[in-house]
Amino acid sequence: MIKKFLFLIFFSFPAFAFTIPENLTQGMLVYGTADENEEIYYEDLPVPVYNGKYVFALGRNAPDEIQITIKRGWFDSEKKLFKVAPREWQKDVFDGVPEKTMKPSEEDSKRIAEEQKLLDAARAKRPIKNGFPTCFIKPVEETRISSAFGSQRIINGVPQRPHSGVDMAAPEGTPVKASADGVVILAHDDLFYTGGTVLIEHGNGVQTGYSHLSKVDVKTGDIVKQGDVVGSVGMTGRANGPHLHFTLAWENIRVAPEFEYCTSCPCGDK
Ligand SMILES: [Zn+2]
Repeated sequence: MIKKFLFLIFFSFPAFAFTIPENLTQGMLVYGTADENEEIYYEDLPVPVYNGKYVFALGRNAPDEIQITIKRGWFDSEKKLFKVAPREWQKDVFDGVPEKTMKPSEEDSKRIAEEQKLLDAARAKRPIKNGFPTCFIKPVEETRISSAFGSQRIINGVPQRPHSGVDMAAPEGTPVKASADGVVILAHDDLFYTGGTVLIEHGNGVQTGYSHLSKVDVKTGDIVKQGDVVGSVGMTGRANGPHLHFTLAWENIRVAPEFEYCTSCPCGDK
């Protein structure tokens, strides 16, 4: 009888299938594997699982330890703690950025607030619910990184928030490509800070952003394939030279774009 009871327990509560990469660092997308019937949470944020894979993001300032909760059914739940390594962030000093964009007038402040609403509404869209990309291509091929993700910025002598993306310097007019398949959730010719701007949702909250474009070639709602041209490099908005400001995020948590996810992802996708 006891034996039978133990047998049942063993088969009712099999081990969790959840796996996570060993080397977690600040500012990265984390890909791992889990069972379809496992519910995963990073702190309080639900982490989608599709075809046995999940993705979530560790922000620039992620703490040195994070909690992941894995649930299966009502009672079967486990909390695990994982170490996160800190990163060194660069310091960038820029001068000569137009003062108009540094100290917005009252009128401009209203415009910025309106545009922020537009951005928030766009970023909340989730048109793709059945998957997410594991491989990103460089949006500008011939490029030099002029400012890294997460760098502490001092613009015209004034400290700013850390850099939310990576700046890729390229001549004005250079084609800008969609880094992965997705749906355009915002296409705008002229936002105050980011000028010509395209935001793409790639699935389950994974998004890329393309800013300071001299030309926008897509419109909101367009479906794009990885490598499709979405616009051209420019210096519209708050910029002191032609470059692409490229962002990668999951659920608005920005990470350092990496273009080697294709090989480093444990999921084995392209
Ligand atoms: Zn930038």
